[in-house]
Amino acid sequence: MEHLDKQFSDDTAHVDIGVFNAARIATAWGTPKRKGFNTPDQPHRLSKIEAIPAADRVTPEQLTAIIGPYPGEQLAPSGNGQPHWDIPQLLDEQGISHTVGEFDCDGQKGTKYIFAICPFDAAHDNQSAGIFQLPNGAVAFKCHHNGCADKTWESLKKLWGLDIDVSQIKLPTPQQPAPQQQQEQTGLPGVRRPGYITMVHLRKIYAARRPPIIDGLLREGETMNVISSSKVGKTWLAQSLVVCAAAGVPWLGIFQVGPIPVYLFDNELFGDDIHYRIDEIAQALGIPRALYDNNLHFEVLRGQDVFLPEILEMWRQIHQDHPGRFKLLGIDALYRSLQVGMNESDNNAFTSVYNAIDRINTQNKAAAYLVHHASKGNQSAKAVTDVGSGAGAISRAADTHLIFRDHQLENCVVLEARMRSFPPLAPLTLSAVPAVGATGGRGARRAPGRTANKLQQDASDADGKEQIRKALRTGGKTRRQLPMGDQRKTRILSQLVDNGEVVVVGTVRSGGHDCEVYGLASTGDGNGQNS
Ligand SMILES: [Zn+2]
Repeated sequence: MEHLDKQFSDDTAHVDIGVFNAARIATAWGTPKRKGFNTPDQPHRLSKIEAIPAADRVTPEQLTAIIGPYPGEQLAPSGNGQPHWDIPQLLDEQGISHTVGEFDCDGQKGTKYIFAICPFDAAHDNQSAGIFQLPNGAVAFKCHHNGCADKTWESLKKLWGLDIDVSQIKLPTPQQPAPQQQQEQTGLPGVRRPGYITMVHLRKIYAARRPPIIDGLLREGETMNVISSSKVGKTWLAQSLVVCAAAGVPWLGIFQVGPIPVYLFDNELFGDDIHYRIDEIAQALGIPRALYDNNLHFEVLRGQDVFLPEILEMWRQIHQDHPGRFKLLGIDALYRSLQVGMNESDNNAFTSVYNAIDRINTQNKAAAYLVHHASKGNQSAKAVTDVGSGAGAISRAADTHLIFRDHQLENCVVLEARMRSFPPLAPLTLSAVPAVGATGGRGARRAPGRTANKLQQDASDADGKEQIRKALRTGGKTRRQLPMGDQRKTRILSQLVDNGEVVVVGTVRSGGHDCEVYGLASTGDGNGQNS
């Protein structure tokens, strides 16, 4: 019928290829035909023989002589290197709503997947289309509508991009030089030849999302700003990221990351400050050294006059020397990396910096983070992307813009973020720096004594802290030797340890067991702030 249709259907007549059941066409003489309503002008009647043609019955051979052999649609072969298509999975990937049933083919039982809507024409919504598959893997597609008579399994594979061998597609790469001819025509060096890509190709080539480096915040190829007003200690926050990424501990108790090797360019701190702070943060978080020691890599650049162009060239070399090894590179701090003559308000300069980082990230499937400081003045009224000193390009060009603002309660910060490739995040209140537990939500880690209803208490502990500081100024003390009641002392001492003012300087044997000796932090500025 399809073959007849192709040759003889025209504007005024068409061969109904939906007709395929001989039992519905033939009739036993003398039985009633009852299609449609019984009306005076079209009454139901009994079937009868009105005329017998003189010629013999038309044979298939005679038909074939007129219309040629039916090319037919075979079930696509399986085996011989043909993939055995997993049709349910395929339909799932394509988002095709369908029902499943059985069909017979020369005595074999196969499975049919009948679509709610024909993929070639949404008007074909009466379950006319479907995929048929035999147990040996052979596949056919069929839609019973005339418009789809020529649509086969091959057509469907083409429609869904299943015929594309992704490995054969050549995408222009950023470093690919523009053809000479193109340059001559446009006069612009480096102009790329146009080459569009279809939705089908996009879905096929970029089937999977780029994997997250920091889940919820940062993916492969992306750049993140970490911006904080100096009061809450952006370096503490950024370094807790470094520790957590290296050790594979959720950052801020929320964002899954690592364990991965991390490479940090630090021009903010001296080498001793770096390891003291890192170890203190890790201790506060309960992360053993063994978990992070081997994954941390530092370029100690404080006082070295090393600036952005050089740092980015070093990044490129690191990836070249250790392909695929470093997934997360950081600069702390961005403002110190600006060479003479480059200022924070220079949009053009920052756009090209971010573009360069982007290129390095993309080529190496890595991510980057840049620690930056907040602009001066009250931050609380500003939009997230306006917090951050300098050029608008700094916030616009990054994929993730993460900011920490002061909370009205002492030692608390509010985290807000804008992400390009993750769902939005509600603002989170975080407890004291560097004890980096969130006070609520999303399975957040709660630091002891830091729940929201105890925050007021923190404020009244200020004088208690002063008592402990005073006691420690005269030398190391065990917990027992410090003033105040036990419960209050424990709480305040843990706050001082958390924010880095007080550290464990040793142990003494007392009452049959080891007691920790506390002292004032002797390095850094000792108050958890660095700028
Ligand atoms: Zn159709």
